[in-house]
Amino acid sequence: MARKYTGVEVPPLSIVDISDITRKARESLGLEGVWQLDVAGVLEHKLHNWGLDFEVCDDLGSKEAESFPDKNLIKIRSDVYDGLFVDDGRSRFTVCHEFGHMAMHGELSLNRKKTVKDTPCFKDSEWQADTFASFMLMPTELMKKLIMDGANSASEVVDAFCVSNAAAEARLRIFDKRGI
Ligand SMILES: [Zn+2]
Repeated sequence: MARKYTGVEVPPLSIVDISDITRKARESLGLEGVWQLDVAGVLEHKLHNWGLDFEVCDDLGSKEAESFPDKNLIKIRSDVYDGLFVDDGRSRFTVCHEFGHMAMHGELSLNRKKTVKDTPCFKDSEWQADTFASFMLMPTELMKKLIMDGANSASEVVDAFCVSNAAAEARLRIFDKRGI
């Protein structure tokens, strides 16, 4: 599944960097080891830990959600917000994607990059935010556990983390290729 990313150019990050950033993000929210991330709960009760706020909007143009790092604000379209309460995988991914913009492209200091050698880095902000969402919802440590317990299909990943099938397949591809 080739996907075109059309974000702005940002300082490069590798998949390993982003795995590390999401681990720190989960730690900072006290959510290590949580399988099915309570994304609505993070919005309602934990976002202030990051000094961020959110707003639910009926109309965001063509966008499902948007980050305003200069205002420490995430805007979420109401149908996407509602999707969080019915465990809609796509809505969960969309909101975590915005967490990624805030964590990596805003004022938050989660992005203290250490250089990882021999790992390709990517400069596209949208690729980075999607990768952040993927690892925020499906962290490396828990993926390792799941695979060690014998899971090998996207549907098992969907059930374990409450993500869409497409997100589960993409995450499995990364795990198969890099072991993280
Ligand atoms: Zn984005």
